[in-house]
Amino acid sequence: MDRIVVVGGGLAGIRAAEALRRGGHTGQLTLVGEETHFPPYDRPPLSKQLLAGTWDLDRVLLRVEDGLELDLKLGRRATSLDARGKRLTLDGGEELSYDGLVIATGATPRHLPAAADHGGVFVLRTLEDCLALRDALTGSPRVAVVGAGFIGCEVAATCRQLGLDVTIVEFLPLPLVRVVGPVIGEACAELHRDNGVKLMLGVGVAGVEGHTRVERLSLADGTTVDADVVVVGIGVSPNTEWLEESGLTLDNGIVCDETCAAVGVDGVVATGDIARWPNPRFGAVMRIEHWTNAAEQAEAAAATLLAGPGSAQPFGPIPYFWSDQYDVKYASVGMIGPDDDVEVVEGSVEDRKFVATYTQGGKLVGAFSCNHPRALMQWRKQIEELTALT
Ligand SMILES: Cc1cc2nc3c(=O)[nH]c(=O)nc-3n(C[C@H](O)[C@H](O)[C@H](O)COP(=O)(O)OP(=O)(O)OC[C@H]3O[C@@H](n4cnc5c(N)ncnc54)[C@H](O)[C@@H]3O)c2cc1C
Repeated sequence: MDRIVVVGGGLAGIRAAEALRRGGHTGQLTLVGEETHFPPYDRPPLSKQLLAGTWDLDRVLLRVEDGLELDLKLGRRATSLDARGKRLTLDGGEELSYDGLVIATGATPRHLPAAADHGGVFVLRTLEDCLALRDALTGSPRVAVVGAGFIGCEVAATCRQLGLDVTIVEFLPLPLVRVVGPVIGEACAELHRDNGVKLMLGVGVAGVEGHTRVERLSLADGTTVDADVVVVGIGVSPNTEWLEESGLTLDNGIVCDETCAAVGVDGVVATGDIARWPNPRFGAVMRIEHWTNAAEQAEAAAATLLAGPGSAQPFGPIPYFWSDQYDVKYASVGMIGPDDDVEVVEGSVEDRKFVATYTQGGKLVGAFSCNHPRALMQWRKQIEELTALT
């Protein structure tokens, strides 16, 4: 394979480029990235240490292997793809032909339509988002966080650690509940209440009030939340809009087979937040928006591209994520879901040190830990054995 192009210069893109070189690709290797940072930066500290100001910029840069000999096209956006003709177009009209293509274009935060015209309203995905939000947090503003998913909960925790007045508004009845279910969701709600966050749960945002800047949120139940800064963490959408006419199959991400190859076309793989693939270990289709998957799937996608059709191996990881909030480190292994049976099997929720298992029809499929990482790894081993690929 002579020419490989990687589109997306985040974690998954750079790890794929490294894996391609390590896997023996000696031909041309082009990395197209909309962002201009190189080495790329890491996103997890953007809601934690960098936002809190406890880390400086140097610490958030990813380490990149030497000798990649990349043809870097940074600050450039891929605008369309012709998968049959093996050609992509960049902004400005430049065309790139390829023999192999890695798509790692990640995801973009959803915005609050009601807040389109107001200053003081932020999302958090990029380094620039983080620095702008950090600036806005000086001068003791009152902060409203819309959405109690991982980003919202982490931002709320960081803002409380900065001594700010914080309210979380969440449409669902509990934080994180869509991912972890009600038992852990309740524990997370307690964690935030104990740290002085005001929780407005089970209620949506009806409108944003203020002249040029936000002054308050009006909620669907008629109440209001005064706020100088609003952080919106209501989920992300995979960056597939540039692929609409490409010939790829899109369905909440790029639809891939078990080996991370895009279905129905030749020579295209996808990895990270944008890839949707059937994980053979769990017999379930997944699109994972977590750090470890972006790194691991990049290796798998690169290997698939180098192996070619027929020789590629299925990608069957045990998903893993972590989330740091206050002095609590949450982590999870396996395929946890809100409707699973959840049982605390080690430690106690009250002590904020525990492991809970997730079972489906009596079968162990995942585990979640709070400040108990070593015990979690023991459960991981069991999940690995129980879900082993034969
Ligand atoms: C604030 C924050 C905190 C997080 N904390 C955690 C955590 O604690 N634990 C955890 O497990 N995960 C965490 N994550 C998730 C993790 O960072 C992501 O899953 C990971 O960054 C995904 O990597 P990616 O390369 O797929 O996508 P991205 O990192 O989004 O990279 C995609 C890149 O592609 C570029 N791009 C998009 N479209 C185009 C185009 N058309 N042409 C060229 N370039 C394009 C984008 O600009 C971007 O640079 C966090 C994420 C955020 C935002």
